[in-house]
Amino acid sequence: MANLRLRGVDKAFGKVKVLQDINLDIEDGEFVVFVGPSGCGKSTLLRVIAGLEDITHGTLEIGGEAVNDRTPKERGIAMVFQSYALYPHMSVYDNMAFGLRLDKGAGRDAVDKRVREAARILQIEPYLDRLPKELSGGQRQRVAIGRAITRDPAVFLFDEPLSNLDAALRVQTRIEIARLHEKMPDTTMIYVTHDQVEAMTLADRIVVLNKGRVEQVGTPLELYHRPDNLFVAKFIGSPA
Ligand code: ADP
Ligand code: MG
Repeated sequence: MANLRLRGVDKAFGKVKVLQDINLDIEDGEFVVFVGPSGCGKSTLLRVIAGLEDITHGTLEIGGEAVNDRTPKERGIAMVFQSYALYPHMSVYDNMAFGLRLDKGAGRDAVDKRVREAARILQIEPYLDRLPKELSGGQRQRVAIGRAITRDPAVFLFDEPLSNLDAALRVQTRIEIARLHEKMPDTTMIYVTHDQVEAMTLADRIVVLNKGRVEQVGTPLELYHRPDNLFVAKFIGSPA
């Protein structure tokens, strides 16, 4: 179970309130996209969910349990950022296996099985022996996603994973991520972007953020046809 429930979540850095009264319910296996202008708090909200930032007020539950005091690993969360930090001197295989090997009790065969399964899902099997510098940007980002999959996360968080790619690779990798959602139907995915097209094509539901608050939550069609206010209408690009 990996449904998420946020209640009255506030986040401040010193006196600056970055998130204010966030209330959200995300279903098990849902693909939810956070959109909003630069600086509205998307990354902070993701980091709060991941446990990389403390919550100032409010509660976060995952699978029905309060997780405010749990580490990212204890929350069963994996995160992929826009800059994919692969180890340059290690093969793709070793990059993907590295974290697993650090876990006590993960045998060689079990690690191998997890790496190959993740490589199959992301279609990076042909590159397992290569070094990161021998891959394109899109292939590297798939390795970074594959590495996160090996951890078998209950919740998968993406922070603008495509923004460093050129236009063609962005489309290709976006399709890959949509396929990932189909192949991992039990994994809850939360995806941050400021790109409306990405949001509209990937999301089961979209959360529109503005100045640290939730403006509206809905399916892409609901937001497009029935925006609650002018901000949402402008941001989603609907004619209303
Ligand atoms: P987004 O991802 O939507 O562009 P962020 O969540 O990165 O927005 O940032 C939201 C606001 O919080 C910004 O005004 C940013 O400057 C501020 N902020 C983010 N992280 C910190 C931090 N560690 N310390 C102080 N301010 C921060
Ligand atoms: Mg951000």
